[in-house]
Amino acid sequence: MTSHPAQERAALKDSTLRFLGKLQITFPLEQRIAQADPAIRKAYGRVLAQWISGRVPAPDFLLPAELHALCHLDAIVPVSGGLGCYPFSADNRDFAVELSRRPMNAMCAIDALAMSRLTGLASTIKALCAICQAQVRCEVRSDGSLDHDVPQHIRVLWRHRAHPVGPCSDNLCRDLVFLCPECAAPPGSDCLQLPQATAVANAFFGFQRRLIPPASA
Ligand SMILES: [Zn+2]
Repeated sequence: MTSHPAQERAALKDSTLRFLGKLQITFPLEQRIAQADPAIRKAYGRVLAQWISGRVPAPDFLLPAELHALCHLDAIVPVSGGLGCYPFSADNRDFAVELSRRPMNAMCAIDALAMSRLTGLASTIKALCAICQAQVRCEVRSDGSLDHDVPQHIRVLWRHRAHPVGPCSDNLCRDLVFLCPECAAPPGSDCLQLPQATAVANAFFGFQRRLIPPASA
């Protein structure tokens, strides 16, 4: 949990860096939070801390002004079950993540891979191949690295499709999916092997660990 973001980036290869860069341009979450009002950033940290401690923040967890500001930044996703907060989803989106036997849901494949590093808990991810619907399963260690016996050739696919405007959870997230070893990536898509995708996930969400209030970190 102590490695520096610059070290994380240095460990990424070119294709992986390109994927990460495109992701950060398409959904500039880190930048939006960095530029937010300090009180809003703090409220965001409190929402994250709730998720990390295993509690789903209730719809009334935030003050109305905080809720409005964080929704405007597309940093949280309120649904009837609570306040989703990338990478954590408050509803079932078919990216199931078991964090130390605690069932959670991720917003997308990249989000699922980010949860262990963020929480410090080992995880098992169960999802479906986006093309053939075969079950895809992998284990992530508590430090965010992949388990040695991770099934080879599972990949993360970024399908590039036209989207209506709306929150990331309804567009980009629907396109960041797992691919089983047998299925080919469609032409024009970006595709990463699981270790590279995991590195992207940990780098994309790395800023969040610095926002968690100390008592909950
Ligand atoms: Zn498949």
